Amino acid sequence: MYFIRPVGDMEFDDLNKEIREFCEKRNWSQYHSPKDLAIGLSTESNELLDIFRFKSQSEQLEMISNPDRQSEVEDELADVLFFLLRFADLHDIDLEDALEKKIEKNRERYPKEEYESSNRKYNE
Ligand SMILES: [Mg+2]
Repeated sequence: MYFIRPVGDMEFDDLNKEIREFCEKRNWSQYHSPKDLAIGLSTESNELLDIFRFKSQSEQLEMISNPDRQSEVEDELADVLFFLLRFADLHDIDLEDALEKKIEKNRERYPKEEYESSNRKYNE
């Protein structure tokens, strides 16, 4: 069994409520179709990726330990989380349940004995 722990001192339900209120006050639900939320999720993920573009592994680690650069990463991770939670909330997807199912699927796809210290994909 896998349980999602509170994020900071907030539970996912609290975060969903805050995001819902934020969006309702701005009348943004009209812009939150599944496709547009998926685009938002992808766009924000790519903004996270862009921070590390062309950086060596040591430069990446140096950036993440620099408070100014780390805040850029935090911003993009928060944007990704916003779209992820908003998508799941609007379309009645239980993220905790979905994650538990996916981890179980991955346990079967990637048996420890066969995949320990391997980054090979299950279908390769
Ligand atoms: Mg962003």
